[in-house]
Amino acid sequence: MSGGSGIVILGIFAADTAYTAKRMPHIAETLLGSDFKLGPGGKGSNQAIAAAKAGGKVTFISRIGNDPFGEMALSAYASAGVKANVMRMDGVSTGAAFIFVNEDNGDNAIIVAPGAAGLIGIEDVDANRAEIENAAIFMTQLEQPLDAATHALGIARRAGVTTVFNPAPAQTVPDEIYALCDYVVPNEVEVAHIVGHPVETDEQARAAGDILLQKGTGCAIITLGARGALYHAPGRSELIPAFSAGKVVDTTGAGDAFLGGFAAALSQGQEPAAAVRFGCATAAIAVTRPGTAPAMPLRSEIDDLLR
Ligand code: ADP
Repeated sequence: MSGGSGIVILGIFAADTAYTAKRMPHIAETLLGSDFKLGPGGKGSNQAIAAAKAGGKVTFISRIGNDPFGEMALSAYASAGVKANVMRMDGVSTGAAFIFVNEDNGDNAIIVAPGAAGLIGIEDVDANRAEIENAAIFMTQLEQPLDAATHALGIARRAGVTTVFNPAPAQTVPDEIYALCDYVVPNEVEVAHIVGHPVETDEQARAAGDILLQKGTGCAIITLGARGALYHAPGRSELIPAFSAGKVVDTTGAGDAFLGGFAAALSQGQEPAAAVRFGCATAAIAVTRPGTAPAMPLRSEIDDLLR
């Protein structure tokens, strides 16, 4: 086992630009919207901010451009206490997400342009090899190129670092990646994509967890929205209920809050099932606030909810 207590996260930053309107515009049409919101996003970046605010010692590996959205990312890391091992690139934009929000029912449609983060490669991982090898936990997702994620998981695994993989957004990846992971943490949609059957009931979630274990992952944790999360390890399967921390206003980024809280708790030596509970509490607070990264709670707030 690695002796460190740090959490190293590889992933992307994307500035979320959310436009609210009655409907999507047609081609060649200009439509007046009713609201606009700008904020820091990107799964890896959100998870890093969540983990740091939840008390983890976090390093985030990524790439951004030399532009105002890049400044937004760096100021978010400075205020959350995330160490930013982030390469700034000239001539390429920082990641950005166009989010259309339907003003009547909240439905959304998203385009993510990863920009500089789309150029993350194994060289970024190699440049951070010592930091990964000395971490307690390495965590990544599927928004940046897969070869970088696989390379980093392999380095972490060989160094005895606990590996956490969030297979999001849903896409097909070689099975070998699951065998590099101590924890695979999908939501219901992502795990359904992996196992090829719907995951709507607890029974279906357990069956999906079994398939992940057969693929070689140490433990599957399937997040189930407002129902909580299934902790599914060999010989132990437990449904950990969601918490209620008040009126739910925005569930975007709930999964990222969960992963940040989970990693923070695990890095501080909590047992996995207790860390899942801590992740559920982190996410329960985040969903009572608008936005993603700005919604992530402080350690003291999570402790209060768990008390
Ligand atoms: P994602 O954001 O990836 O779709 P989920 O919707 O499964 O992920 O949510 C992740 C976690 O956030 C859940 O396991 C749960 O603990 C928490 N959560 C999600 N929605 C709610 C809610 N409405 N109330 C309380 N907790 C929630």
